[in-house]
Amino acid sequence: PYKGMLGDEILRKRQRFLGPSIFYYYQKPLNIVEGKMQYLYDENGKRYLDAIAGIVTVSCGHCHPDVVDAVIEQSKILQHATTIYLHHAIVEFAEALASKMPGNLKVVYVVNSGTEANELAMLMARLYSGNLSMIALRNAYHGGSSGTIGLTALQTWKYPIPQGEIHHVMNPNPYRGAFGSDAVSYAKEVEDHINFGSSGNIAGFIAETFQGAGGAVELAPGYLKLVYDMVRKAGGVCIADEVQSGFGRTGSHYWGFETQGVIPDIVTMAKGIGNGLPLGAVVTTPEIAQVLSKKIQFNTFGGNPVCSAGGLAVLKVIDKEKRQEHCASVGSHLIERLKTLQQKHEIIGDVRGRGLMLGVEFVTDRKEKTPAKAEAAVLLEKLKDLGVLVGKGGLHGNVFRIKPPMCFTKDDADFLVDALDYAISGM
Ligand code: PMP
Repeated sequence: PYKGMLGDEILRKRQRFLGPSIFYYYQKPLNIVEGKMQYLYDENGKRYLDAIAGIVTVSCGHCHPDVVDAVIEQSKILQHATTIYLHHAIVEFAEALASKMPGNLKVVYVVNSGTEANELAMLMARLYSGNLSMIALRNAYHGGSSGTIGLTALQTWKYPIPQGEIHHVMNPNPYRGAFGSDAVSYAKEVEDHINFGSSGNIAGFIAETFQGAGGAVELAPGYLKLVYDMVRKAGGVCIADEVQSGFGRTGSHYWGFETQGVIPDIVTMAKGIGNGLPLGAVVTTPEIAQVLSKKIQFNTFGGNPVCSAGGLAVLKVIDKEKRQEHCASVGSHLIERLKTLQQKHEIIGDVRGRGLMLGVEFVTDRKEKTPAKAEAAVLLEKLKDLGVLVGKGGLHGNVFRIKPPMCFTKDDADFLVDALDYAISGM
C-alpha cells in the first residue's frame, strides 16, 4: 500500500507553493500514485481505467517496461552532456524518427515540449519565407508561451499580451462549423483572409489535424489539401501540429496529416513521442532546416541521451506491438459502441474521431447544439467514481476526449461505454 503524502496535504502544499494557474479535473482532485499500462492507481489503491493518457501523452502505456528499461540503462551510463559533444542516442532517435516521415521530411530538431516545438516551427517559417504573418485555426491549441499563445485560439488560454502577426481563420469543424463538412467554403475563407486580411504574403499555416484542447475536432475532409496550396502560393510553409495525433493513434495512418492526404513542410511533435518523458521534435526538409544555419540554435536538454533513448524505445514499441493496427481495430469497435449509445441518449450530440482519438460531445438540445456544460461536469465525476478517467475539451468543457494509452483493449472500450451508459442513465 501507498505510504506517501496524501492528497489533502499535497493540495494544501500545491496551493501554497505552486502557481495558481494549475487547474484540476475533479472537485476532489485525485492523488495518482502509480501507473501500469492503461491503468492508474490512487492513494487508496483504487484502480482507474485511463482513457486520456495524461492528456494524450502516454502512448505505449504507463511505465511500459521497454521504455523504462531504456531510460534506466541510459541514466546509469550518461544522463547529460549536450550536443556540443557527440552521442549516439540523439542520432539513433533522429534516424528512426526520420524513417517514419513521408517525402523529404528528414531533418530533426529535438526539443523538450510541444510549445517549444511550435515556437521553433514558427521561427523557421518566418525565416524561410521572409514573411511575418501566421495563419492558425480558431479553436486551436499550440502552446502558452509568449509566441505560441498567439497561435492558440481558445479564450480560456489567452492572456492579453501582444499576440504577434497572427490571423485566425474559421474552424472547419464538421459538427459546429458554419459550413459543416464543406471544405471548399472554409478554404475560400482562408483565401479571403490572405487577400483581404493580410499583406498577401504569408509566413506559414499551422493546424492540428485533430484538435485536442478544442474538443477532439477532426477537420473537414479535404480541407488541408486546399489550404496548403493557397498558403504555398502566398509564400508560406505548412506546419502540421502532431503533438496529439501522431504515432499511429488515428489507426488509419501513422500521422494525423496523412488522413488528409497532404505532406507538410514542417511537423511538430511532443506528448506521445516520449510516453511521458519531456520530449518534443520538429521535423522538416533539409532546405527549410538550412535557415537555422546562420546563427546558433541551441537547446541545453534537447536530444539528451536519456530522452533520446526513451524516444527510440517508444518508436520501437509502437512497431513491435503493432499499435497503429491495434488503434484501428479497438477504435472502430469503440466508436461503433459510442454511436449506438448516442441513439439511446439524447444528450450525446456527436461522436467523432478515428482510432483512439475520439470525442463525445454533450448537448442539452440536439437541434440547437447547446453545450451541456453542467451535465458534462457531472458525468466526468461519475465516470471517475466508476473508475474511468476521460479527458474534457472544448470551450465549454462539454466534450469528452477519449484518447487512452494505445494498449487499450476492446474489453476496456466496453467497460468505458458501459460506465458511460450507466452514468448517463442515472442522471
Ligand atoms: N500542441 C498541441 C496540439 C497540444 O495539445 C499541446 C499541449 N496540450 C501543445 C501543442 C503544447 O505542448 P506542451 O504542453 O508540451 O508544451
